[in-house]
Amino acid sequence: MQRRQLFAAAAAGIALPASALDFAPPRTPTAMRLQVDRLIDIAVGIRPFRAPGPRIEAQRLHGKTVVHHYGHGGSGWSLSWGSAQRALALLQAHARPGERIAVIGCGAIGLTTARTAQQAGFKVRLYARDRPPHVHSGAATGLWTPDSRIVTAEHASEAWCADWEAMARASFKLHQGYLGLPSGPVEWHDGYLVADHGFDAPLPNYAPHAGEPDYPDLAGRVADLRPRGQALAAHEHPFRHVQARRFTQLVFNIPAYQRLLLDDFARDGGELVQREFHQPRDWARLPERVIANCTGDGARTLLGDPHLTPVRGQTARLIPQPDVDYAVIYRGRNVVALPRRDGLLIAAMGEHDFGSADLRPDRAQAEDAVRRLAALFG
Ligand SMILES: Cc1cc2nc3c(=O)[nH]c(=O)nc-3n(C[C@H](O)[C@H](O)[C@H](O)COP(=O)(O)OP(=O)(O)OC[C@H]3O[C@@H](n4cnc5c(N)ncnc54)[C@H](O)[C@@H]3O)c2cc1C
Repeated sequence: MQRRQLFAAAAAGIALPASALDFAPPRTPTAMRLQVDRLIDIAVGIRPFRAPGPRIEAQRLHGKTVVHHYGHGGSGWSLSWGSAQRALALLQAHARPGERIAVIGCGAIGLTTARTAQQAGFKVRLYARDRPPHVHSGAATGLWTPDSRIVTAEHASEAWCADWEAMARASFKLHQGYLGLPSGPVEWHDGYLVADHGFDAPLPNYAPHAGEPDYPDLAGRVADLRPRGQALAAHEHPFRHVQARRFTQLVFNIPAYQRLLLDDFARDGGELVQREFHQPRDWARLPERVIANCTGDGARTLLGDPHLTPVRGQTARLIPQPDVDYAVIYRGRNVVALPRRDGLLIAAMGEHDFGSADLRPDRAQAEDAVRRLAALFG
């Protein structure tokens, strides 16, 4: 059935066969232009991984009530809104309605915490050393990954997992409210999950990297939130020598999302002050009584939190290819290509990234990821 006929039938209320509704990626999609001379940028960021999970709790410190809200590992963008609702409950318990509160940090967590607090009627002043795009959140891939390096298996009790699930579901719902906007902060894309040796062999969430702990398998708890993947026969995908499945994925266009959140924050009367804090005692001088501490990996040095482990990550961008609308995830090799609006984004995990806070871009790693993906297309 042609697409035009399909829409006409749908408009006329005619029941359509399931096969007609199956918008599979085309068999020969526009090839990604995976050439290293198309690399335009490499961004490096630190995932604030916390073995027991994000810290969301209130503490009295130097005459202030500090609501700690940091440690979201590789899930900060995905979990942000749901996690911010948890932080909001603590803010509401300690601040008067309409009071001005301080939010420290302007990454994914600080911005969504600030917006959530504003929507609940608080006035908010953001203090941050760095602002987007120069925050670690700005280097993120932009995939819906609420289970990525968010807790270790050891700490994932049933109660913890149930709370995580509630946060993930709440967050997912709020992200859907950002669909269909002109700047495209949130979009859905089809993609291919490819693997060298099939999908039956169980893989850990990540191929073993130096120092990585075991992670719980959380994905199944929210599997109903997106369409099921589908195995593809060799003639149904464009890759050589691999098996492929189709998947459908929520994607964040990070620059557009950051910009929109900042604009919304300012429109609702929010103030942004550039300031670095060297120790918690510095917060005593702030005029606000109640503070949300959304400093991400910054809390490692600021508070000396022994549970925080930095996990370096880098994303590279090739010149945007607007005609490419599918993603590729190379399972077991930790390479991802994502059709973001600001470029064809290539993410790769390095062997020594766990425990590393090295912010130097690694061009060789980026080129290697581009070549590995290029080899897939033959
Ligand atoms: C390469 C990479 C890929 C990723 N991909 C994804 C993905 O696809 N999906 C997903 O959901 N997540 C992803 N993540 C994870 C996500 O980006 C993080 O969980 C998120 O960035 C954490 O946000 P944050 O606001 O806590 O920290 P940050 O973005 O680091 O923000 C911290 C803020 O606090 C401020 N600050 C820190 N210390 C101080 C101080 N002493 N004084 C004043 N201000 C301070 C900083 O200036 C900044 O404004 C990825 C991360 C990386 C690095």
